Amino acid sequence: MRCRARRLSLAAGLLAAGLPAFAPAGPARAEMQNPQATLPAASDCLGEVAREARTRGVPEAIAARLTDLPPDPEVVAATQNQAEFVKPIWSYLDANLTEARIAEGRAKLADWAPTLAAIEARYGVDRHILVAFWGVESTYGSVLGDPTIVRPVLRSLATLACNPTPRAPYWRGELVAALEILAQDKPPAEPLTGSWAGAMGHTQFMPTVYQAYAVDFDGDGRRDIWTSVPDALASTANYLKAMGWRPGERWGSEARLAEGFDYGLADETTERSFGEWRALGVEATDAPADEAARATLIVPAGARGPAFLLQPNFRMILRYNTALAYALTVAHLSDRLRGAPAFARDWPRADAMLSAEALKGLQARLTDLGFPAGAADGKPGPRTRAALRAYQAARGLTPDGYADAALVERIKAGP
Ligand code: CA
Repeated sequence: MRCRARRLSLAAGLLAAGLPAFAPAGPARAEMQNPQATLPAASDCLGEVAREARTRGVPEAIAARLTDLPPDPEVVAATQNQAEFVKPIWSYLDANLTEARIAEGRAKLADWAPTLAAIEARYGVDRHILVAFWGVESTYGSVLGDPTIVRPVLRSLATLACNPTPRAPYWRGELVAALEILAQDKPPAEPLTGSWAGAMGHTQFMPTVYQAYAVDFDGDGRRDIWTSVPDALASTANYLKAMGWRPGERWGSEARLAEGFDYGLADETTERSFGEWRALGVEATDAPADEAARATLIVPAGARGPAFLLQPNFRMILRYNTALAYALTVAHLSDRLRGAPAFARDWPRADAMLSAEALKGLQARLTDLGFPAGAADGKPGPRTRAALRAYQAARGLTPDGYADAALVERIKAGP
């Protein structure tokens, strides 16, 4: 099993955390409210997708590629791969922020300096962020030549589109988009290749994202995110710019908190200027020149772990993938590529891993106690952390929103 899990992962940490690149936010979530909406029987499913593609102008020769496409059992397995334990945030960071990845990223910055300068000039997105995305998504493209990792996109998406799950309509839209790309863009990668979840090229664009945001930066007439590094990096810059990336601003900074700091202020949502934060005892380790720049405060592993002041660009990284661990990894890798040191404060690494079942129970219990923790999905997100902070504040505990094993036991046992 371990072997298969490794073979299936493209961006090493993404799958380990159960996260496809470009985790879909809108369409998938909407579908959740109406599960099993209008799924045809599996045998009719691909024929229906092919018909839909034809009505959208995909030529018969390309639509016919779906005929008799057998499901990929490894892709089905990947969707069912539910982790028994919830990996702590630092394990994701450690796996992705290796010395080798940092060193290779610095070499890539040098190799591609003129291209990166041109991309920065056109899109206003910092080169270190772009190279960090590249490193996390595909180890700077090095995994794209590995046939045990990279798979034919049509077969992966056909498998997902016709697997009767609530997310099937999302995958179906991506499959039709992949057919349109084959028809319109005539990509050089044949067959079209990507991750098990259909994310393609150096920076792992889903087909609909490719359609909307990929660019031809090297001027050869093709939007080639598979073999052209300039196209792939400029496409990512174009995506970030479209999401609202602020030129010249950073993602944020690690922060030191004063003795006796009120953790209730680390609510992840209240924006204050760096100057206001300093007055409250929050000192950025790498503060921006502009004291008026605004940020929110987060303590992902509670009072015993590092704190971060997050500027608006951090949200743009989350638009690429909604997982906090992912976004912090890209952000911190970009800093390391600039030559900044590792985080000053370490994580509470001695803490025991919590099981997904324990976290689900915790979420349900918090909600029962009057602290709404969101869906009991075993994944501690912003709502769960907010519920924990409210619980801790109400019980006179340090309201840092972090559940260690002792707190889980306490909440389980008593009111
Ligand atoms: Ca091109």
